[in-house]
Amino acid sequence: MSARDLYQELILDHARNPQNFGELEHASAHSHRENISCGDTIDLYLLIEDGRVAEVRFDGQGCALSTASASMMTEAIKGKSLDEVQQLTNHFRSYISGEADDLDAELEDFEAFQGVRQLPARVKCVTLPWVTLADLLGQMGE
Ligand code: ZN
Repeated sequence: MSARDLYQELILDHARNPQNFGELEHASAHSHRENISCGDTIDLYLLIEDGRVAEVRFDGQGCALSTASASMMTEAIKGKSLDEVQQLTNHFRSYISGEADDLDAELEDFEAFQGVRQLPARVKCVTLPWVTLADLLGQMGE
């Protein structure tokens, strides 16, 4: 199997079987966003306890790319402090924009989106969950 096929598998796996999917009651913060160019919608919920992500869930209607990205993102940030979540967000942004080529262990699954970086319309799909996460970090900083 080529690396490209493995990446495809990883994305489809998360898209078919998303982790942390569903509404979260008693969330500390919630945000809704849409990616009009593709039709993706996402609702992201965080429960913060002692400055850490105790629980994170998402739901909505997304394409395989946005769903897989949201699924991987929730796995990456669960249990992290808000500072660490902010760092992961910055790290994701520099990777997806092509500024950085290497990924930390926490985000290594995002290598599956390597080929998407050249496709601006699809980059929006992968970025949607992270932009929504940035909304929530902003809300909590207030
Ligand atoms: Zn999409």
